[in-house]
Amino acid sequence: MNELLQNLVKLQSLEFEKNTEKAAASAVAELRGKIPSQILGHYDRLVAHGKKGLAAVRDQVCTGCHMHVTIGVVATLMRDDDIQLCDNCGRYLYLAEATKAEVPKPTAKPGPARKPRKSKGSLLLV
Ligand SMILES: [Zn+2]
Repeated sequence: MNELLQNLVKLQSLEFEKNTEKAAASAVAELRGKIPSQILGHYDRLVAHGKKGLAAVRDQVCTGCHMHVTIGVVATLMRDDDIQLCDNCGRYLYLAEATKAEVPKPTAKPGPARKPRKSKGSLLLV
């Protein structure tokens, strides 16, 4: 994860913990100083609307809005060369730790082995 994203993730976790300790406040100020104002502005707009400014991507799904993100977005995140916004909810995206380990295959073959799951009742269990 690149430094900018790491700073955003840290900032969000500090701010959402509602941590009023002085140490946290100065850490927040320090992080905000490191993040470009344009990015911070967008983040603050999301937070002002009661949303989180960041969402993890897990299994190619934005955990903020539960919509699929494109493989291109995931690939960019994995390369760590740019930050990405969710097309649907506009949150900054970062890869969840679990996703990092597995490499998504850009050429998805329509495999014959996959059976459609017919577990209609499974929703009740979640
Ligand atoms: Zn989203």
